[in-house]
Amino acid sequence: MPICYIDQIKDLKDKKVFIRVDFNVPQDETGAVTEDTRILGAIPTIRYAAEHGAKVVLASHLGRPKGEKKAKYTMTPASQRLAELLGIPVKQAPDCFGTEVTRLIDSLKSGEIVMLENVRFYPGEEKNDPEFARQLANGCDVYVNDAFAVSHRAHASVEAITKIIPVIAAGFLMRDEMTYFDKAMSNPVRPLVAILGGAKVSGKLEVLEKLVTKVDKIVIGGGMAFTFLKSMGYTVGKSLVEDELIPTAKKIMDTAKERGVKFYLPVDCIVADVFEATATNFVTTAQEIPDGWMALDIGPATATLFAETLRDAKTVIWNGPMGVFEMDAFCRGTFAMAEAVANCFATTIIGGGDTDSAVRKAGVENRVSYISTGGGAFLELLEGKTLPGVNALEVA
Ligand code: AMP
Repeated sequence: MPICYIDQIKDLKDKKVFIRVDFNVPQDETGAVTEDTRILGAIPTIRYAAEHGAKVVLASHLGRPKGEKKAKYTMTPASQRLAELLGIPVKQAPDCFGTEVTRLIDSLKSGEIVMLENVRFYPGEEKNDPEFARQLANGCDVYVNDAFAVSHRAHASVEAITKIIPVIAAGFLMRDEMTYFDKAMSNPVRPLVAILGGAKVSGKLEVLEKLVTKVDKIVIGGGMAFTFLKSMGYTVGKSLVEDELIPTAKKIMDTAKERGVKFYLPVDCIVADVFEATATNFVTTAQEIPDGWMALDIGPATATLFAETLRDAKTVIWNGPMGVFEMDAFCRGTFAMAEAVANCFATTIIGGGDTDSAVRKAGVENRVSYISTGGGAFLELLEGKTLPGVNALEVA
């Protein structure tokens, strides 16, 4: 079913436009925003609404205040950063609903912006409570969802509220996310290569099962590779293994074989004696991981092999680091993968979360086609699920 986008709404002038953004941004101990990608991502939609004369009401969650007002999770640092980026004032509301908030919204002039307080200060948000959604909606005329990263959650400001505000639409960030995803999965230019990494198979099981029916090649790195290697009869020392998923890993590889999907696993790795940045470590082949040692990164031969798999790729999707990239001793495989993705002549789509930070740490963020702002939401799309926040925007 079709979705209406904000630029398809005829007249925003003097309308109260509620925009659900995702300003769940990392902060340091003083509360200062340390990474503003998500704020930057929502700016085109916010600017569009303000420049078209809307009275803009922004709402977001931040952290996990668990339904209670906690000063640590105030939206103030995020709204201040937004004001700096926009170059216009952003009023910070003292709450997300109530008399004072209503007064503040009613006093907005055309083009002015108010940021509500953290919607997760109330349990009604995560319970998708219609009454809380009604309080949040606060008489707004138009609802816009530009919070892709939270659209896999049926929460009040994402789902229930769409039943209350009369006109509903998606923002430009949401449009970019859906467009790139469609490009990769609905009608991809082939060969389509999926690179998957991260800690465990269990975290990405449904994604693996879906991708093996869609892609031309699957490249597996990170901790999850060792369940696959063990299922092939290798001894993998103390590396991360989910023994109960060994039969599933085998099945996934069988499906790949049946469908002619090329399946790549590490051929070498960097092993460590302990899970620590200062661990003793060395390179060994995947066949010769010694007892008592754990593989924490792919090795140099694997980095070359994985880069080679991308040589003819036309579309690449990457989710999950190739190793424990947070530790300098085990980041080389992930950085080499980032470089290979950046160098390949393909549409390259990076799943959010850890892969996003890995790509930025590797300094190649401007050389990939698209970095999704959603970790969980991106994975759910890959699993073939419909996101509740997107579903709620579909108009009959
Ligand atoms: P995920 O959230 O499943 O994408 O996992 C990301 C985490 O996987 C990162 O924090 C990495 O440190 C971790 N990781 C990647 N490779 C390994 C490995 N070989 N062993 C243990 N953890 C790993």
